Amino acid sequence: MSTSFFEDLSIGKDLLQAIQKMGFITPSPIQAEAIPFILDGRDIIGQAQTGTGKTAAFAIPIIEKIQPEKKYPQAIVLCPTRELAIQVSGEFQKLAKFKRSLKIVSLYGGQPIARQVRALQQSPQIIVGTPGRVQDLLNRNLLDLSSASMLVLDEADEMLNMGFRDAIERIFEYLPESRQAILFSATMPQSILTLSERYLQEPEYVYIEQEVRPIPQIQQHYLEVGRKVKTDVLVRLLKADQYRLSLIFCNTKWQVDSLAKRMKLAGFNVEALHGGMTQSKRNKAMASFRQGQAPILIATDIAARGIDVDNVEAVFNYDFPKDTEYYVHRIGRTGRAGKSGKAFTFVESSELIEFKNIQKRLKIEIIQHELPALA
Ligand code: AMP
Repeated sequence: MSTSFFEDLSIGKDLLQAIQKMGFITPSPIQAEAIPFILDGRDIIGQAQTGTGKTAAFAIPIIEKIQPEKKYPQAIVLCPTRELAIQVSGEFQKLAKFKRSLKIVSLYGGQPIARQVRALQQSPQIIVGTPGRVQDLLNRNLLDLSSASMLVLDEADEMLNMGFRDAIERIFEYLPESRQAILFSATMPQSILTLSERYLQEPEYVYIEQEVRPIPQIQQHYLEVGRKVKTDVLVRLLKADQYRLSLIFCNTKWQVDSLAKRMKLAGFNVEALHGGMTQSKRNKAMASFRQGQAPILIATDIAARGIDVDNVEAVFNYDFPKDTEYYVHRIGRTGRAGKSGKAFTFVESSELIEFKNIQKRLKIEIIQHELPALA
């Protein structure tokens, strides 16, 4: 039941176009497994953690199945935290980019309820929210899920840990009898199995090995580097190994321009890419990089989003990524299409704790890299 091409899944052109724009080349294992089942209307239990592409594994088939001409909630996704709800609805927005009449609303605590009520009046088809706020809106008759045919429990183990069991059970009662339930969880404790037995019908079990790295063919390294010597270290790394194409990430446009200037002075042929540049300048920079005229591209995260270049051999996190998602996304620019790649992260001493957290979240250990000698 698994496939190695998005084109082989029964999904429409507008979704394929959005997937391509997001830079996804092939479905991740959990996507290849889960998408056909969800499209088929089956209930599923997916065991997968962050970094495996689990969000798109349910978002893609849900978007495909929504009937945009019908202006009522057709799918509800429950997430444990407001941050995850925002992230998940962001992924839905991107995947639904070319489905103009599709509306997604996120509902979570800590934001004025009136704003969310107004958003609900715009007749969204997809709702992403935390159990507390969703239940609150249901109780007040401000949200109608009586025709919602799909329900997703994302990070179900976290939701139970946070005490949302009752809220989830109440929410199920607001949905029609014949709904499709999709449960994703990183772990499978008894409480999850009990919940599934109660609410899922003949679920298909989709499992991704826990020890799988986010992108296994990428060798990940880090270097503890002081701010002032970062450029020098980068120069040494680039001289020590000649990469065909390499991508360097900075956190701001200003830093991209400033580093590009310094690298040019150091004799490297580099291009800069950030949102402050005109589209034609960006296109020119991308073309020059893609063709290898400038084998080094220095970019911000946002500008690099749509980059679909297969031969990037090394990624450098010159500036420390803002969070785990950024990390995974950045290093995923290399090691594509079955090729191997290297990723180097520069970590300042003040960033070491956050860096440990990223490794913990991804359940990986990133190896410290020796500083290459000056010669
Ligand atoms: P998730 O496990 O859903 O948190 O996704 C982790 C990251 O991988 C997100 O930044 C996704 O946008 C990205 N991603 C999801 N599916 C793919 C794919 N098939 N190829 C490349 N990146 C992906």
